[in-house]
Amino acid sequence: MVVVLLVLARTATPAEMAFAVFRGNGRAANIEPDSTGLESCETYSGGVRVADKCSSRSAPDVQPQLTGSQNDWNRNFQGFAMGRLTRRLVLAGGGVALAAVGVGGYLIKHPRPAPIGFDITPEELVRARALLSHHPSIDAHAHPGRTFVDGAENLSGLVWVYAKLGTFEKRTIADMQAGGLTAAAFAAVSDFQTLGTAGEGLTAVRNFAPGEAWTSYKRQIGKLQALTESGLVRPIKTLADFQAAKASGKPGAFLTVEGGDFLEGKPERVAEAYADGVRSITLMHYRNNELGDIITGAPVHGKLSDAGVAVVKAMNAIGMLVDVAHASEATAMGAIRASSKPVMASHVHVQSEKLHHPRFISLDLAKAVAETGGGVLGAWPAGIGIVDLNGFVDRTFELVDHVGIDHVCLGTDMDANYKPVFDTYANLPVYVAGLLKRGMREPEVAKLIGGNFLRVFAAVQST
Ligand SMILES: [Zn+2]
Repeated sequence: MVVVLLVLARTATPAEMAFAVFRGNGRAANIEPDSTGLESCETYSGGVRVADKCSSRSAPDVQPQLTGSQNDWNRNFQGFAMGRLTRRLVLAGGGVALAAVGVGGYLIKHPRPAPIGFDITPEELVRARALLSHHPSIDAHAHPGRTFVDGAENLSGLVWVYAKLGTFEKRTIADMQAGGLTAAAFAAVSDFQTLGTAGEGLTAVRNFAPGEAWTSYKRQIGKLQALTESGLVRPIKTLADFQAAKASGKPGAFLTVEGGDFLEGKPERVAEAYADGVRSITLMHYRNNELGDIITGAPVHGKLSDAGVAVVKAMNAIGMLVDVAHASEATAMGAIRASSKPVMASHVHVQSEKLHHPRFISLDLAKAVAETGGGVLGAWPAGIGIVDLNGFVDRTFELVDHVGIDHVCLGTDMDANYKPVFDTYANLPVYVAGLLKRGMREPEVAKLIGGNFLRVFAAVQST
């Protein structure tokens, strides 16, 4: 099981690992070589694994150079391959084992990131890279290199295993540079220490001890501040800092916190978080906290609590962006009503007749976010009903159809996403090429990849 977890850890969230372990569904199957070795993999369709030729769909001719994340994938695969090797030695003897070494060696040299699912020409890729060089691109929600796991205490079960896999910020930052990303949110995870798996998903499995949420926040923010001051990225606190990062060619980093748990219902802590460099708080995550209810559990408050209203007003006053992803509809609507500034739903998608998911939001809520002073919704590349980057392009267009081109931004949840179909920033030009190829005009792409987010960031910081 540990070996499987190592493979899953390439991109899996604890929730994904839980899905894989408890439902027999996961990326481990994706890298099972077939007898000829090297061309087939598996994709998912409605929860059913379907054998499919995917190496060509990974667009190797236009794949950016080997990146840190891909190296990480290689290492994970190596562990898995060696596990298989041992079994084959026992079961079938040395000849088969040598074949396994060959297959493993091939795959280590030919990493398999999430499939692309469409072809692009070198000219299309050049056009996409040019667009990225001329316009800021910003990821509104991400955990680059998973800093939040570093030093986390009192973890349980699979979440403990997940944390033990460690951090890899340098590799992800190298991917940002390779893909031409201007800046990303570097998000702490406020409720991480309380999380575990229950049923099919991730949830808080215990309460915080007194003071624990604040201590955990300070630990994570300390690590994130050290990272932003290390010289690997340019720290971002103001609108001008985004421009400076773009001009410098070094990826920018702005701090956010996923989950308002660390506030412990105290709106005065918003100012302290702002002083720490935090520029956005996702009010809820996987734990009903003092501010309101989560979207993936039974409601306790049935609204944004009074403390939640006070926190939203404190965020408005100081210039911090309110993020309603993960909030129940009643809590999110309460935040929208309480806010005098535009709000964000940083990584979401809209429920539809054909595809329901507990993390998707209603069309009413999506429109309310967009209509609150021009808020934004982050297109989220989770592998829910989609299996490749092409599916993410589809999903992006769906979101634009729902709320309009002025209200969609990027929210990748990089490095902690659920079955990600966009799993390396190095593929950002490929995603942009996909949008252009499908008919999105360059000024529209520019809005989507960064312009809309910057408009909202500016509105939130203005007094
Ligand atoms: Zn996240």
